[in-house]
Amino acid sequence: MAYDFDLFVIGAGSGGVRAARFAAGFGARVAVVESRYLGGTCVNVGCVPKKLLVYGAHFADDFDNAKGFGWNVGQPEFNWATLIGNKDKEIQRLNGIYRKLLVDSGVTLLEGHGRITGPHTVQVDGTSYTAERILIATGGWPQVPDVPGRENAITSNEAFHLAELPKRIIVVGGGYIAVEFASIFNGLGAQTTLAYRGELFLRGFDGGVRKHLHEELLKHGMDVRFNCDISRIDKQPDGSLKVSLKDGGTLDTDCVFYATGRRPMLDNLGLETVDVKLDKQGYIQVDEHYQSSEPSILALGDVIGGVQLTPVALAEGMAVARRLFKPEQFRPVDYNHIPTAVFSLPNIGTVGLTEEQAIEEGYSVQVFESRFRPMKLTLTDDQERTFMKLIVDSASDRVLGCHMVGPDAGEIVQSLAVALKAGATKQVFDDTLGVHPTAAEEFVTMRSPVAR
Ligand code: FAD
Ligand code: NDP
Repeated sequence: MAYDFDLFVIGAGSGGVRAARFAAGFGARVAVVESRYLGGTCVNVGCVPKKLLVYGAHFADDFDNAKGFGWNVGQPEFNWATLIGNKDKEIQRLNGIYRKLLVDSGVTLLEGHGRITGPHTVQVDGTSYTAERILIATGGWPQVPDVPGRENAITSNEAFHLAELPKRIIVVGGGYIAVEFASIFNGLGAQTTLAYRGELFLRGFDGGVRKHLHEELLKHGMDVRFNCDISRIDKQPDGSLKVSLKDGGTLDTDCVFYATGRRPMLDNLGLETVDVKLDKQGYIQVDEHYQSSEPSILALGDVIGGVQLTPVALAEGMAVARRLFKPEQFRPVDYNHIPTAVFSLPNIGTVGLTEEQAIEEGYSVQVFESRFRPMKLTLTDDQERTFMKLIVDSASDRVLGCHMVGPDAGEIVQSLAVALKAGATKQVFDDTLGVHPTAAEEFVTMRSPVAR
């Protein structure tokens, strides 16, 4: 049967755009449908605008610290509308770039909601298209627990478009988004509470990193509450919110922001018309080739519930395009040593195993740690400290993990990820000369393991 397209991609986010562009570049006839915004979550309500807000929030410390270097900057004033307006202009520019990238690579771009109506058919606003293969790259959506009054709360989607900076905010959750946005609002001057249900936030990160960031957030004046669970949210006559806690306490605030994870975006996708199986958490189940239980339908990125990061979705998109249309260039995605950053203030950068994971996997480990005051702060009153940690396998001397909390941690950890990928030993780290004076040189000058 002759199909309209070789590949029909639903969702023009990180993974969908990468797969569509490269497949078209390899000569395939490709369509992509997007219902909301070109570039997907990362460009519109994720990585990019988030990082811009983090930069904005960091200026508060920069203005304070400038005094120690002789600068008198007066009383700085912050204007939320300017930051959001400039951020929106930049996102529009990026949307245009994504449009051009797709069109220039020969992809047919359809704007509307894509709904699967059979193993080879997708309907977009009433028009039906056929394709040999359909790729679901529809991403995720914020998930808010069923708390009475949750309609009064916002999620990351709305946080990027608030009309005003709230004076007081409670950020609920203890993952990437909670920690990053609590840092943003705190830095911009909102009275910020971070409320996490467990003992210590950032479950899955290295224990030393979690504790160090906690101490730093407290130093920055954030109200960080652990074992803190919300039971209801009530709107008050003056528009403020009263938050009741499960321990019987209450908090008054202007905004409650839920950052309690994301669900796969499968709304009105038409999966009931095909044999696509979901896993226990509701994500699309795929094999190592991103193929679902319906042979003509593939899925990748956040909607399959793996590691939910843009570079992972991009790599999966590339792998799908190559396997289908340029098999001689196919390389499977290597999920080992995925570096990641949490853009809290200060940042976390991490790659490889945490100390806890290494021990659980049976390694006998040597741990190297360093805590110091960054040189940039020595002329200031800022008491922030940087933390670095290396986990080394005692048997092979291989470095299993690198972790950092401090300025530019994400930038620094990117190159360490190359070293770990290449299998570098601690001896290789020791033989590498530092770049002086930098914070990063500490990663090659830690000599004595900490006693455990
Ligand atoms: P998405 O980028 O979500 O794209 C899915 C697209 O599909 C969307 O554009 C959506 O509108 C469209 N769509 C959905 N259903 C349909 C339909 N039926 N028809 C047509 N179109 C449809 N990752 C990082 O690596 N670094 C970061 O700093 C980072 N920060 C983040 C901050 C926030 C606040 C959030 C929410 C996420 C962040 N992420 C970050 C994660 C990253 O954004 C995602 O992992 C990545 O966007 C996943 O790409 P994707 O292609 O799977 O889906
Ligand atoms: P995460 O899965 O990272 O964190 C969710 C948090 O919410 C956890 O602390 C979890 O607690 C808590 N939680 C879950 N359910 C409830 C509930 N019912 N009540 C109270 N708390 C709850 O999700 P995020 O939303 O922060 O981010 C989604 C994903 O997006 C991330 O995992 C990451 O992959 C990606 N992302 C990446 C970023 C980056 O690279 N810098 C930035 C932002 C997002 P518990 O730990 O106890 O389960």
